[in-house]
Amino acid sequence: MKVLVTDNLKKYYGTGENQVKALDGVNLKVERGEFLAIVGTSGSGKSTLLHMLGGLDCPTSGKVFVDDKDISALKDDALCVFRRRKIGFVFQSYNLVPVLNVYENIVLPIELDGNTVDKAYVDRVIAVLGLKEKLESLPSQLSGGQQQRVAIARALAAKPTILLADEPTGNLDSRTSQDVLGLLKVTGEKFGQTIVMITHNEEIAQLADRIIRIEDGRILGDGRISDNDRSLKGGEADE
Ligand code: ADP
Repeated sequence: MKVLVTDNLKKYYGTGENQVKALDGVNLKVERGEFLAIVGTSGSGKSTLLHMLGGLDCPTSGKVFVDDKDISALKDDALCVFRRRKIGFVFQSYNLVPVLNVYENIVLPIELDGNTVDKAYVDRVIAVLGLKEKLESLPSQLSGGQQQRVAIARALAAKPTILLADEPTGNLDSRTSQDVLGLLKVTGEKFGQTIVMITHNEEIAQLADRIIRIEDGRILGDGRISDNDRSLKGGEADE
């Protein structure tokens, strides 16, 4: 079942000679439970796409469907509610609240939303991410990798339909990146989350189920295969 679909998604900035086509007709379908990596060079449109998928910004034209609902048609308030209920964000900077301990950080969005914490579920997320011993610690007492695991726990705790991650390991060394990403993948699978992650790091992207390549705001490739393999595959696909 498709959890996320975009239809000819475009985002243009500026006009005339200065116009930048940050997204130029993106058609994407993501299955529930899929772990998708979006790769591309700097300026290729990755962040713009992620922002559109999460309803953080509006497209110039085209549509974004989450669970069959057209979010591009939602007004500000409705979009806000949609984001809180359906989308979890993990950014390169962990954005933890420094005066709150690990547990308080993890449940903060749920409490801000006026919801009751599903203690059993949150405890499982905490256990899977190896944070049980750190619940009383303040963010400043944790390593970068641990802080990012807290940010992932916080995103998962609210049970979002889709987890959007923007260079989630951008501030971590390569060993810690692999560990954190491994955990993201495991938690995603365990809790049935769909994950869309942008990265410019090929090694990190290889951990995903599927890789989308984007350049100049367009999808160039889709699959777990290199560009060379892609042309080979194209040759085999005789219809
Ligand atoms: P990436 O995440 O792949 O580095 P972005 O999505 O941030 O790429 O940017 C895609 C293109 O859109 C770039 O050329 C960038 O300069 C341009 N762009 C992004 N945001 C804005 C903005 N707010 N105003 C004007 N141009 C923008």
